[in-house]
Amino acid sequence: MTTLPAATPDRTRAARVLDAADLRTEHWRDLYRDLHAHPELSGREHRTAGVLAAELRAAGLEVTEGVGGTGVVGVLRNGDGPVVMLRADMDGLPVLEDSGKPYQSRHTDTDPAGDTVPTMHACGHDMHVTALAAAVDTLAGARDAWRGTLLVVGQPAEETATGANAMLDDGLFTRFPKPDVALGQHVGPLPAGVANHSRELLMAAACTLDVTIHGRGGHGSMPHVTVDPVLTAAYAVTRLQAIVSRETPSGDPVVVTVGTFHAGTKSNIIPDTATFTVNLRARSDASMARAVAAVHRVVEAESAAAGCPQPPTIGVRENPPATVNTPALVDRVMAAQEAVMPAGAIRVAEPLMGSEDFSEFGLPKGRYAGDPVPYAFWFWGGMDPDLFPADYTTGFSASVPGNHTAQFAPLDEPTIAAGRRLLVAAALEFLA
Ligand SMILES: [Zn+2]
Ligand SMILES: [Zn+2]
Repeated sequence: MTTLPAATPDRTRAARVLDAADLRTEHWRDLYRDLHAHPELSGREHRTAGVLAAELRAAGLEVTEGVGGTGVVGVLRNGDGPVVMLRADMDGLPVLEDSGKPYQSRHTDTDPAGDTVPTMHACGHDMHVTALAAAVDTLAGARDAWRGTLLVVGQPAEETATGANAMLDDGLFTRFPKPDVALGQHVGPLPAGVANHSRELLMAAACTLDVTIHGRGGHGSMPHVTVDPVLTAAYAVTRLQAIVSRETPSGDPVVVTVGTFHAGTKSNIIPDTATFTVNLRARSDASMARAVAAVHRVVEAESAAAGCPQPPTIGVRENPPATVNTPALVDRVMAAQEAVMPAGAIRVAEPLMGSEDFSEFGLPKGRYAGDPVPYAFWFWGGMDPDLFPADYTTGFSASVPGNHTAQFAPLDEPTIAAGRRLLVAAALEFLA
């Protein structure tokens, strides 16, 4: 168990810092709209990284670009004290935006297959970068109010769950100060001005498996001399849902989604192979391991049942662990944020089945040795409160378009201002 930096006796400090700051509201709104109009795909965040690096340099940080690909690291040393890490992810998604915003994206980028695709900040990472840069600007302008070191991380490739590990592999915690506390936030379909916390589990573990069924192709008129991989894969896809309905305890949910399925070129040709991808979500490493083993068992057994000439190929593409906050740290973050936000804005909510590779920065296991880094990650709202139904309580509401939809459209304000206040208050809670 790692120890947290000592409790700050005075939680009015963040309010004083925010009240005294030159908030430059128009600057951050313009920055957000510029980022929103120029989304880049995972690992290709060159322009976005450049914008963030310029803002961090302007605030007086030592900035290193190109960490783990397009990652940005800013360090602000301000005397003896704890090292507090603040992280934003930077990538957009291959989505054609339909938000109707005057600054909506008409940008394109090149996807991993080499195709030109429309891009959109459909997960709000542009908001994360903006709120982070604004919070750092405020903290850097109030250096006489705190001591310690800020480690500011602009992470690439969150949507492929590879960017956090790429930055760690490139020496994030060895070339730069290793944090005592890591903090991050995600914008979501919650009313603007609120934040949702979870004292322990916030988000699920995820795993993407690439599956290839190896059949034996032939003429569509003579299936008896072939082994049809399409039929075999279809049986496997259907049976995979029984992992949820027949193998998973109701109190420990698992999600199984087959998001892609590709086979064949023509109706009268039985192809040699069929490929599909399975996306799994689980709330613990143990239930994820059980689900992964079940996918192997089902796909291998269906291939054997069909008489496939060779076993299926099953590869793991990405598998970020669950996001499990440190409870004592969450309590302090919530108390600090309550001191700078309106009454009722800071709430406790149910965990989500979404996932985040922010959890990799906690280093609890896997390929990174060393003491774990306690972390807190929370969601904050970006949506017009009038869009929520009368019986709305705390969760993500289906009444507003959510992350990863073409209509996802956070308000620029008050979302940027709230994101800045939440981060500044949380950071000052742990800085001396
Ligand atoms: Zn996302
Ligand atoms: Zn996201």
